[in-house]
Order: sequence, then C-alpha cells, then structure tokens
Amino acid sequence: KASVLLEGDQMIANGNVDVGKVQPSHQLDKLREERKTLPIYAFRERLLQDVEKNQVLIIVGETGSGKTTQIPQYLHEAGYTKGGKKIGCTQPRRIAAMSVAARVSQEMGVKLGHAVGYSIRFEDCTSEKTVLKYMTDGMLLREFLVEPDLASYSVVMVDEAHERTLSTDVLLGLLKDIARYRPDLKLIISSATLDAEKFSDFFDSAKILRIPGRRYPVDIHYMEAPQADYLDAAIVAALQIHVTQPPGDILVFLTGQEEIETAEEIFKHRTRGLGTKISELIICPIYANLPTELQAKIFEPTPEGARKVVLATNIAETSLTIDGIKYVIDPGFSKMKSYNPRSGMESLQVTPISKASSMQRAGRAGRTGHGKCFRLYTSYNYDSDLDDTTVPEVQRTNLANVVLTLKSLGIHDLVNFEFMDPPPCEALLKALELLFALGALNKVGELTKVGRRMAEFPVDPMLSKMIVASDKYKCSDEVISIAAMLSTGSSIFYRPKDKQVHADTARLRFHSGNVGDHIALLKVYNEWKEANYSTQWCYENYIQVRSMKRARDIRDQLERLLERVEIKLSSSNDLEAIKKAVTSGFFPHCARLQKNGSYRTIKHPHTAHIHPSSGIMALEHHVLPRCVLYHELVLTTKEYMRQVTEIKPEWLVEIAPHYYQLNGVVDEDYSTSKKMPRGKGRASTSKQIPNLVDYSICV
Ligand code: ADP
Ligand code: MG
Repeated sequence: KASVLLEGDQMIANGNVDVGKVQPSHQLDKLREERKTLPIYAFRERLLQDVEKNQVLIIVGETGSGKTTQIPQYLHEAGYTKGGKKIGCTQPRRIAAMSVAARVSQEMGVKLGHAVGYSIRFEDCTSEKTVLKYMTDGMLLREFLVEPDLASYSVVMVDEAHERTLSTDVLLGLLKDIARYRPDLKLIISSATLDAEKFSDFFDSAKILRIPGRRYPVDIHYMEAPQADYLDAAIVAALQIHVTQPPGDILVFLTGQEEIETAEEIFKHRTRGLGTKISELIICPIYANLPTELQAKIFEPTPEGARKVVLATNIAETSLTIDGIKYVIDPGFSKMKSYNPRSGMESLQVTPISKASSMQRAGRAGRTGHGKCFRLYTSYNYDSDLDDTTVPEVQRTNLANVVLTLKSLGIHDLVNFEFMDPPPCEALLKALELLFALGALNKVGELTKVGRRMAEFPVDPMLSKMIVASDKYKCSDEVISIAAMLSTGSSIFYRPKDKQVHADTARLRFHSGNVGDHIALLKVYNEWKEANYSTQWCYENYIQVRSMKRARDIRDQLERLLERVEIKLSSSNDLEAIKKAVTSGFFPHCARLQKNGSYRTIKHPHTAHIHPSSGIMALEHHVLPRCVLYHELVLTTKEYMRQVTEIKPEWLVEIAPHYYQLNGVVDEDYSTSKKMPRGKGRASTSKQIPNLVDYSICV
C-alpha cells in the first residue's frame, strides 16, 4: 500500500510515514505554487488522459518545463502507485537522479528515501515505501536481472531519451519487448529535443505529446578567430560579462571535474584583485562527482547584488535546470567516450560537440528572459565543423558490459535485438571476443559459470573478472579493495598547487618498493582502515576524504556481492598473487616498453605512455618497466595509460594462454624469457581461439 497519497494539490501524509526532515508548511505552500507555474502544469489533465489511453507515450518538452519533477508526481496523484506499484524514472546521469529525487521529495513534503527515492550505482536511497523511484538508466537495466518483467512497476519513464546513452538504448529495446506481454505497464519516453518521431516510430507510431516551453530570444555571439586555449577564453569572457553586463547569472560549459577545478582556482585568483567596486562573483561548480552537500548550492538563489557563475559539465545541457541563467559561455567541447572496435581501444577524449548540443546550451540562457550565448568558436566552425547530432553511445563504445547483461537476461540473439540504432557488427563481435577471452562465454557464446558470477557485479567485465579470479588466488579481500578504489570515479590523491612537494612526498610512501599503482591503492585503503577510517589521516597523507568514503561504500557492496556468488573473503599478503588476480581481468590491457621509451600495447599494437600521475613515474631515477598492465587509456596531449602496474610477461601466457602466445609477449631482449615455461607457451596455439565463424553462429 502506498503510504503517501497526493490528491490534486492536497497532500495527505498517512501516520506511519516518517516525514523526518521535511519542509515547514509555508515552504510547502510556496513549492506548491511554484509547481503550478511550470509549463507542464497546463497539460496535466491531457497528459493523464494520454497515458491512460496509450501504453506508450512520447513526451517532448523544453528543458525546465517540468517533465522530470512533475510527471511522476502527476501519475502518483492519479493513482498509478496504488497497491504499492512503483513509478520509475530513469536518468542518464546519477547526479540528476539524486538532485531531482531530492527536489521531488521536498515538493511532496516527504523525507528522501521514503516515498521518493533514488537508486544509482553503489548507492540505494530507497525503501519498501518508495513509490517514486528516480534512478540511472544503468540501474533499471540491472533491475531486469532480478525482475525480468519489472512487475513491481506500473509506469516506467525513460527520461532524457535524446541523450541516447548505451543503457537508455538497451532499455528501450527491452521495454518494447516486455510491453508486449505486460499490457498494464505504461511507458513514457521523454526527450528535450525535437527528434520525437524517431522514438515514436520505434514504438510502432506511439503518440507524441509536445509541451511548449517558455522561451525568450537568445543572442548568439561567435568569436572572430579560433581560440587557442578555450579554458582561458571562457574565464576571460565570464569576467568581461561580470564587469560590463547587466545582472544575470553565467553558465560556463566545461568538460570535466579537473577542468572545472582549475577554472575555479583561476577565477578565485583573478577576482581577488578586482576590488570592492565590482560586485561579488559566486563560483558554483557542478559535475558528476560533486559531493551531495555542495550540489544544493547551485540551486540557491543568487543574493542581491552578486552574480553567480556556474561551471558545469554537459550535465547542465538538459539534465538539470538552473534558474536565473542569462549568459551562457560555450567553448564547444565535451568529454566523450570513443571506441575503436578494430583494436578494442576505448578512451575518453575532449571532442567538439554537435550542433544539437550547442543549440541546447544556448537555450539555457533564455529561460527567464532575453539571454546571450557566447560561443568560443567561429561561425564558420559551427557551420562546417560540428556534426548535426551526437552519435548514439551504442555506436561508439565497448559493448562488453551490455552483451554480458543481455546474455544474463537470456537474450542470445544479439544481432536481432531491437536497437533503435544498431551497434556496429564489429563492436558486437569484439565484445563477444572479449567475454570469451575472459571466460564469461563459452565457444558457442553461452554464459559460463564464471560469466554468471561476473554479471552479478555492477562493474565492467574486466573488473568483475578480476574479482571473480581473486577466489583462485585467495586474495578476494585485497582485490575488492582495489576494485573499489578504481571505481570511485574521482582521484584518490590530493595535490594542491601550493603544496605539491609535500603531496608528492606523502604519495611516494605508498609506492615504496615500486609496487605499482594497483598495490599503492590497496596500501592507501588498508592504512586508512587501520587508522579507523580517520579524516585526519587523510589530511595528513594528502588523500581525498570523499573518494575514500566512496571507496568504502563501494567495497561494502562488493563484499556483499561476493557472498551472493559464494566467493569467500580471503586475505593474502602475497603481492604477486594479488597482481595475478588483477592480470586475470586486465590481461587485454597490457603493453610493452619500446626502445624509444613509449609503450606498445601487445595485442593490438598501439602506442601509449604511462600517465605522469602514475607512481611509477614519481619515483626518482625511475626505470620504466618492460611490461605493464593498465586500467584505462585516456587521450589528452598523448595517449596515456592510467593506473599502471608492472607485470611479468610470463604471467600473460600462464593466465591467458588462449589470448597470448609466447612469441607475441616476450621478445629476445627479455632476460625473463629464460624462465619461461616453454612447453606451456607452445601449447597455446590458436586452436583455442575461436574464429569469427564460431561467433557468427552464436550472435
Ligand atoms: P525538465 O525535466 O522538463 O527539464 P524539471 O522537472 O527538471 O524540468 O524542472 C522543473 C523546475 O524544477 C525547474 O524550474 C527547475 O529549476 C526546478 N528544479 C529541478 N530540480 C531542482 C532542484 N534540485 N532544486 C531546485 N529546483 C529544482
Ligand atoms: Mg528533466
């Protein structure tokens, strides 16, 4: 039974709901009035009728019109949560899921996590009472694993569908499928852009409801010449707006946390000298890993006389609406994943945005009045260099994770899976090949026991394989700590500009013995644990407290999942065993030193360098190891390997004989080659590598 029922605008909180920290009633009244001013409010009845009459409804509405916060509430008020059924609303970004859930719980006057909750990877803020559940698209995908027909949901709203993330695209295919045998399930697909027909076509000509937004004109200004340093240009532009333009907040689009933090520092430095004649400039960063307590700050109204400058990633393009923005600064870039299916290389890189994105960005300036958008590129760049739309993620990413999920759901016929835009065949094959190499699939493409265990972990297949393999090496305790430290999404080491020497010295301690980055992360975790998870310890050792807390939460979850797959928690201080477990998952990510000091990946030769932040590079008189394993590749000025550990080449032949052959891994000038178990290397011929014909049978 739903514990909170809203009827129209009247809220009836029933006695057994813990409404804890809720809004005082006058604020609730204010929020209730605000809700009525949103463009979507006028469409409430029409929307409810359309949902009632149609199983699938496509909704298009300008960002800020109230889709995300209001539609689930309207449906709840109309009785769609009767009998304890849930309304799920997916978001491509976790910060949006959290922030919107917080807002809706305020509007409803309930405590977050009760009637309204959110679920993101490694963080579940819901309870049995939750009826409005905001979650990342990836989390709903995982829910299919436990509840294949989503029986506990009455409505699923796939929000921000225009973002076309990989998980959203897979969800669309799965939802279309289950809708056939769950006629009572309502689907709402909502998008901020006008390509609604495509969604409608995909869902057999589903009805489209368009919510006209409020929009004021936005003047668009271009640069006369291309900018060499867009970050600097963005800061200069913001400061110029601040000193010359009438009141109104500024939104600057940057590409990621690091860049935002750099910009924040520069802003603070440059505004220090401005004197008291210039009004205050409040700097508000917003990016995926921003700590929850700081997230609320961007929504706080700007005090009289001051100006706010919001430094945001793509998240502010459509996922979050910040009121009061009058000026947008658009450098024209975002960080995008790219994937080369031929080599299997995946990397994050700063890439020019699409025309559609730049239109969305500009639109953010015209929500409350006439606005201005400064594009830090030329109009020629805009016309001739930007693509019309962003390529859907499914066509530019590694599909291993999704393939493993689909296989676990019993979907074997991947070629005929209904994707809105199918992935490249080569990428599908590559994913199958990797999963086979990791032992998750057998030769005919069926899920193995290892694969089933791997699928339980909400991490990429190489990480989950490393965890599953730790059982064999009796070091699951250590390996889940490493996995958690690698999954925080933010840096562990803190390196303030004015204390770099101290920070580097502190850091070197964890690298003593040249143990490699993976073991260094483990040492950090273990020492912090020994220090009773102390914050003080983090300060003393230049470690980011927040990243550590997150690592602990992730580790706790991984530990619970170990139990689910019946792997005992076993601890070992044999560093070689731990590194071998890591290698069991990451053997496809290995590289060999070249004469010129760069590295070449072994399997699909490709040049890369050890990232300067690696402990290996920090040691004085460091010697570059001959053979390394890396966690990920990042492309900045060069292609860098991040989180690097030295391994012995013979481990590769021992651990992945089907993947590496002896002569491929070790060349003559390796002194270690003498110790190679020759027979073993020879035995591993290509007969164990299935050819592509095998795969085409199973896809
Ligand atoms: P849409 O999904 O159509 O883009 P939303 O439902 O997200 O629109 O937003 C509707 C309104 O709610 C906006 O004016 C926005 O500023 C406000 N809002 C949304 N989330 C928050 C939040 N976390 N804090 C304060 N206001 C918010
Ligand atoms: Mg929204």
